[in-house]
Amino acid sequence: MSLYENLMKVKKKIDQSTAKSGRDPDSVVLIAVTKEADMDSIRQILEFGIKNLAENYAQKLVRKSEQFTNAIWHFIGRIQTNKLKYIVPRCEYIHSVWREEELKEINKIAERFQKIQKILIEVNVSGEPTKAGVDPIKLEKLLKAASSLSAVQIVGLMTMAPYVENPQEVRWIFSKLRQLRDIYRKDFPSLEHLSMGMSNDFEVALEEGATMIRIGRAIFKGE
Ligand SMILES: *Cc1c(COP(=O)(O)O)cnc(C)c1O
Repeated sequence: MSLYENLMKVKKKIDQSTAKSGRDPDSVVLIAVTKEADMDSIRQILEFGIKNLAENYAQKLVRKSEQFTNAIWHFIGRIQTNKLKYIVPRCEYIHSVWREEELKEINKIAERFQKIQKILIEVNVSGEPTKAGVDPIKLEKLLKAASSLSAVQIVGLMTMAPYVENPQEVRWIFSKLRQLRDIYRKDFPSLEHLSMGMSNDFEVALEEGATMIRIGRAIFKGE
């Protein structure tokens, strides 16, 4: 299958899943995860009208964002504090922040670049000890800490569900993230986005209210 057909298939699923929950498909941000894509495929995907791209390593982000300066870049990988100076100036959104030290460092760098860095807090909903993300019971404390920093804005929550054959098994994770957003949005009104859903589970995530989905394989490999 061609890249175009892969993309159309993903878009059709977005239409179907948002229709189920009565939402406008255009309200969903489709982020193409380019970590395993070559430059030519990325060029094509931009020509097909995709504007949002994501990387999970700082080095690859630097290289690809230099090639594709018109894209809106997202960082979705584990944060290494010493790499933030490369990430902050290039990314509109950073999805994978969950430690207070990271917030402080981002704030410092964002001030230097005179920008307000948009951030999503990664939440470890499933509670697996090896997984990144803040424990839900510590989320409020982190949101409070962020609200005292003037160059960062928390625009949402992000989570990664474990890989399972049947995505229905991880529906509860997406539902829980939405509940957390709804609870804390009362005190932190900028908390808008839910970044959840990857190639194997984005339809379920959309049914549970995802506003940003991060898709790699389904677009670039047709899986
Ligand atoms: C790789 C990756 C994705 C995309 O996963 P696919 O299964 O290729 O769709 C999404 N989010 C994060 C954090 C990733 O590292």
